Amino acid sequence: MRNTPTLVTRAVLPSLDEYIDEIRPFWKSHWITNMGVKHQQFEKDLQSYLECENIALFTNGHNALECSLEAFELEGEVITTPFTFASTTHAIVRKGLTPVFADIKPDDCTIDPKSIEQLITPKTCAIVPVHVYGNLCEVETIQEIADRYGLKVVYDAAHAFGVKRDGISAANFGDASVFSFHATKVFNSIEGGAVCFKDSRLKPILDELKNFGIKDPEHVERVGGNAKMNEFCAAMGICNLRHNREEIMARKMVDGRYRVQLAGIPGISLIEPQENLTQNYAYFPVFIEDESGLTRDIVFDLLFDQGIHSRKYFYPLVSDFACYKENFSSSLTPVARDRAMRVLTLPMYGNLPLREVDRICDLIRNAVKTSK
Ligand SMILES: *Cc1c(COP(=O)(O)O)cnc(C)c1O
Repeated sequence: MRNTPTLVTRAVLPSLDEYIDEIRPFWKSHWITNMGVKHQQFEKDLQSYLECENIALFTNGHNALECSLEAFELEGEVITTPFTFASTTHAIVRKGLTPVFADIKPDDCTIDPKSIEQLITPKTCAIVPVHVYGNLCEVETIQEIADRYGLKVVYDAAHAFGVKRDGISAANFGDASVFSFHATKVFNSIEGGAVCFKDSRLKPILDELKNFGIKDPEHVERVGGNAKMNEFCAAMGICNLRHNREEIMARKMVDGRYRVQLAGIPGISLIEPQENLTQNYAYFPVFIEDESGLTRDIVFDLLFDQGIHSRKYFYPLVSDFACYKENFSSSLTPVARDRAMRVLTLPMYGNLPLREVDRICDLIRNAVKTSK
């Protein structure tokens, strides 16, 4: 095993000098949180980068999602996907709503609109779909369903930063889209998140919810929490945003190399790029099918033994978590259950050397060959 393992991702950082220049003014102003200059600038920069009308920043994606669900004053059942990160379902449950799990599509692992429609009841109030690995959900079909039944649509867009379909930014689908700027994502502000939304009247509500419900120093009209992004995180976001296109271009090279090297290996299947999509290459998932003669766990272990850290992502399904499995059965979402058993996301970041991609693919190719 090599000395330094190849991790599944690596946080993007600007040069130290660039960051220091960005934070230097704080030593004059002493204003380091509470919607200061950097917070305001970052919000504007993102609004233009994501091409959205309305945006509110948060400490992280999870708090942005919780506050969005709260802002819509929802009640009842929310149709969502079990093929996601814990955050999506936890936000729904922590806001007093009942998650109802729809199945996913085998080709791109996003929520299956047919499955959504079958689960709608008089109690359904919203759909919380998840854009997965940087691929977008069937946004038009989901909107049609939502319009027909009068439902809100709040996208978990944590994987979809910078993605566009037919030139339309992922920030502009549904009633709201929630992004995460966590260190492990395509774009980070150390920790951070934002919600982009259609109805401009939500702006003061979201801004109050993240700041103890404070409207002005003498008026508190909501029971808010604390989910404000601080100035150091906003400064990191401003710096990283300047280099996000470069990061995505570098990831595109890595993605291309994986696709060439893995092509034609029996039982190793990939997600085909969606049509008319401007991708962000957030992750590189592979699926270990029976034809390979291997299992996902075998591939995970053999890569790990060679110093390559892949990730079983998403596994287990949220509905199989100890806190949910009493009330849900993953047998109701067979496609999600199957994909969760087979998926492995391989190392993916802009600086990943292409020779390391080659080594990873050689290991997988040889393992399939020797299993025969
Ligand atoms: C990262 C992530 C989140 C949570 O975002 P944080 O910024 O870490 O709170 C939510 N949903 C998905 C799908 C994610 O990948």
